[in-house]
Amino acid sequence: MKNTLFILLTLTFLVACESNQEKKGQQEPNGQRPSSEQIISEMDSNEDGKLSRDEVKGPIANDFNNIDNNDDGFLTLEELNKAEKSQGNRPPRQTNTNTDLSNEIDITVKVNPVNTDYFITENIIGGIQEQIVELNGIETLCYVIKTNSQATEHQMGPWCPRHIEDGMEKAGIWFKDDKVYDVSGHFIANLDQFYSDDKWKLYREDGTIKVTNTEEGCLAAAKPEVEEEYHNYCVECLPEYFKEQITTFVIPATPKYLKTTQSFGRGGIGLAFNGVNYDPPAPTHAILAAHTIAPLDDHGGHVNPHGGYHYHAVTGSTKEIAQADSHPPMIGYAIDGFGIYGLTDKNGNKATDLDECGGHFDDVRGYHYHAGEPGGNQIIKCLHGLPGYTEVKE
Ligand SMILES: [Zn+2]
Ligand SMILES: [Zn+2]
Repeated sequence: MKNTLFILLTLTFLVACESNQEKKGQQEPNGQRPSSEQIISEMDSNEDGKLSRDEVKGPIANDFNNIDNNDDGFLTLEELNKAEKSQGNRPPRQTNTNTDLSNEIDITVKVNPVNTDYFITENIIGGIQEQIVELNGIETLCYVIKTNSQATEHQMGPWCPRHIEDGMEKAGIWFKDDKVYDVSGHFIANLDQFYSDDKWKLYREDGTIKVTNTEEGCLAAAKPEVEEEYHNYCVECLPEYFKEQITTFVIPATPKYLKTTQSFGRGGIGLAFNGVNYDPPAPTHAILAAHTIAPLDDHGGHVNPHGGYHYHAVTGSTKEIAQADSHPPMIGYAIDGFGIYGLTDKNGNKATDLDECGGHFDDVRGYHYHAGEPGGNQIIKCLHGLPGYTEVKE
C-alpha cells in the first residue's frame, strides 16, 4: 500500500485541455480516458518514447514525481500504466473539475494573497514550492505544500473510551445538530437513547467498549461501507498507521474570486497552519447507518486511511494569527487561497452577513471565510474562489 500511487486529476481532464488548445488533436470518443500510449504519442515531442519533465503539462506535470517511480526524470509507458491502474481503485479526492472557469472570475472583489509565513515550517516537507498550475482552464501561480498531516501544537487523540465507566477525559467528542458532546463511557452506553434506536450497543456485557484496535480494524471500519463485523463499534484509527502518507495541497498564491460558488467533493477544503487537512463533512449517514461512531478528538480531528489525521471541526487548538482589530483570528487557508478565520471574536460575536459558503468581505481581509460551529460538521460550506486541489500519496 505504501507505494500505491494516488493520482487525482483524471487523464480525461488532460485530454480535455489538450483538445481545446489543439482542435485538430485526437479527440477521444465519448470522453473516454486516453491510454498511456496516446498520452505519450501526444506529448513526446522528441519522440524518444518517454516523457521528460519539459514535455508534459497539466495534471501529469503536477504529478510527475509521483508517476516517475524510479525517479529517473522520465515517464515511461510502464510508469503511466501503473499510475492509471492505481487511480482506478481510488475515490476522487480533489475539488477540481475540468469545467472551464475563466469567464467566472470577478476582478472587482478585493483579495489578499496567501501569506506563506503563517505556516509552521517544521511541518512542511521540503518547504513551500511555487508552481504554475492549470486550474479549470486558468494558468495559476500556486503554492505547493506537502505535509504528513500530523498536528504539532496539540496531541492527537484520544478518541474512543475503553469502558463504559471511563470519564470524558479518556475520549474525544461527537456531534449532532450543531451541538458537541463529550464521548464518555456513559455517552457510549446511552447511544440507543441518544439516537432513539435500540440497535445501538457498542459495549460488551463486562462494560468494555468495542473499539477498532488495529490498523486492519480501522481499514475495515473507517469507510462508507463498514464491514459487517465492525458494526456497533467505536471507530478509532491511529495517526501512526498512516504517518508515511504525504498530503499535497495546491492552492492559488493569490485567490481568484468567482461569480459562482464551487462545491467540494470528498477532497480537502483547506488546511490549518500546521499543515493538517480541513476535511469536508464527515459522512455521518454512512457512519451511523452501521451503528458506528468515529469520534473526533477534543481538537476536532480524527484519522482515516486516505489522508491520515484531519479536522472536521475548529476548536481553537491550532496556531492562530491575531487581527489588529476585533475580528476573529485567522486559522488557516481554504483550498482556493482565501483565508479561514475563527467563528467568534474576542467579545463572543459572530459575523451576521456570511454568504452560502460561510464567507464575507471586509476592507482589511478582502473576501474570507469563517469556520462554522464545531458541532456543525462543516468548517466551510462551499468555495467562492478558483479551487486548488489536494492529493494523497499513500
Ligand atoms: Zn473524517
Ligand atoms: Zn470576517
